[in-house]
Amino acid sequence: MYDVIVLGGGPGGYAAAIRASQLKGKVVLVEEAAMGGTCVLRGCIPSKIWLTAASMKEQAAKAADFGISLELKGFDCAAVVARTQGVSNDIAMGMSALLASNGIEVVTGRGVVQSAHSVAVGETVLEGKSIIVATGSRLAPCTIPGSEGLVLTTDELLAMTSLPGSVLVTDPGPIGVECAMLLATLGCQVVYALPGARILPDEDQDSAQRLASALRERGVRIMPRCSLERIENGECVLAGKKKEERVRVDKVLWSLREPVSTGFGLEALGVGRNSDGGISVDAHCATAVNGIYAAGDCTGGWMLSHVASAMAICAAENAMGTPSVWQSQLVSRAIWGTVQMGSVGLSEEQADRAGREVETGSFPYAINGYAMLRGEVDGAVKVVADAQTGEILGVHIVGSQASELIGEAVLAMQLECTVHEFARGFRVHPAFCETVVDGFRDTEGWALYLPKRG
Ligand SMILES: Cc1cc2nc3c(=O)[nH]c(=O)nc-3n(C[C@H](O)[C@H](O)[C@H](O)COP(=O)(O)OP(=O)(O)OC[C@H]3O[C@@H](n4cnc5c(N)ncnc54)[C@H](O)[C@@H]3O)c2cc1C
Repeated sequence: MYDVIVLGGGPGGYAAAIRASQLKGKVVLVEEAAMGGTCVLRGCIPSKIWLTAASMKEQAAKAADFGISLELKGFDCAAVVARTQGVSNDIAMGMSALLASNGIEVVTGRGVVQSAHSVAVGETVLEGKSIIVATGSRLAPCTIPGSEGLVLTTDELLAMTSLPGSVLVTDPGPIGVECAMLLATLGCQVVYALPGARILPDEDQDSAQRLASALRERGVRIMPRCSLERIENGECVLAGKKKEERVRVDKVLWSLREPVSTGFGLEALGVGRNSDGGISVDAHCATAVNGIYAAGDCTGGWMLSHVASAMAICAAENAMGTPSVWQSQLVSRAIWGTVQMGSVGLSEEQADRAGREVETGSFPYAINGYAMLRGEVDGAVKVVADAQTGEILGVHIVGSQASELIGEAVLAMQLECTVHEFARGFRVHPAFCETVVDGFRDTEGWALYLPKRG
């Protein structure tokens, strides 16, 4: 009898297994494919290698400003793919080694949950006190009529050995934005057709606008309120606000994902699902069935690796009898590229809608010394706070290293630091992190390097 049976070897399953083992549990992890899951094999890691390549290409174009003469001779997709495979293999091997060193048994095969305490893998039945489901997500089937032969999935994009000439992107979320940024930076013609008014509808409007400008500067044609209806004779037919638009491209990017939450026994046991298809869990990552927990992409919502990992830690602790609460308010989001985004908490619009009395502060990269000396002045920090209490409600950063800088805000929110406390701090100079402190100081009206307020 195991203490915990974990289903899935992605960032969620991996974290759940190790945490349960650290708490002295006897743990088995079931994985039907390769260790690493979406993150390592076809998500975060390969996509960030591609974006690093694109970013280096952009940086190289600026090398002359720093006295370096370079001749850019071309771009070798195959070399990037080889790097993604090498790094992904190394990480997956490291994961297997860590599971082994924690004494975790790994069973290869498809797990089917038979009861709250048993999982079948082929002919073998594993018995456990608790089950943690971390079955992740997969690409949803493409539903665009007429798209056969034209679709480029994210899996295919990350394994491409030559660049398409032109691509239509329709996903307004982070994966769509990253793919549009990547393809445009590498020289593809990118048309970005948005079902709504803007990219990143769940993020602060100012961040979305800044990233949209960055995309436009790289040649992306953004078409708001244009939904892809069908593909006809090689042309994409888009339903615009007033009229139909037609666009001819080599490829249409397909990145829509769906949680893997059915087809392996949970339905029959009465485990509930949310409207997005994700497994429904409470603040302890417990499902409606006693003894079954779920974590990560299979629960829908923000489908991100660090979320999968944090939820999995919570699920494992609860499964091992250590009460733990999943802090969903601390979910940070990021977009990588030369211009990055990092955010946590509520956008200004969301805080307004929640009835909070909101005050904001902001600070542009353009007057940060480090951004100036590096020639990376596109960006800003925006702070959203409660005007009465000084509670930090959200922080939104667009610009170089935003994905790292947002960690400051996550920590501040985790420790329930107020705007005033954050603003009193100071950082090394010259550095991008000075802009974060300045953003907080502006919320209180005393950012030193901004023109005097009204
Ligand atoms: C292109 C792309 C870029 C991304 N970039 C980022 C990023 O930069 N940052 C970020 O945080 N997130 C990113 N993500 C999302 C991230 O990859 C996922 O959020 C993360 O992998 C989720 O982890 P998980 O463990 O929940 O699921 P997965 O990583 O999907 O792992 C689930 C595992 O379960 C296995 N499995 C499923 N069913 C069964 C079964 N019945 N029995 C046994 N095994 C089973 C699967 O084979 C899989 O290995 C990206 C995703 C994509 C597609």
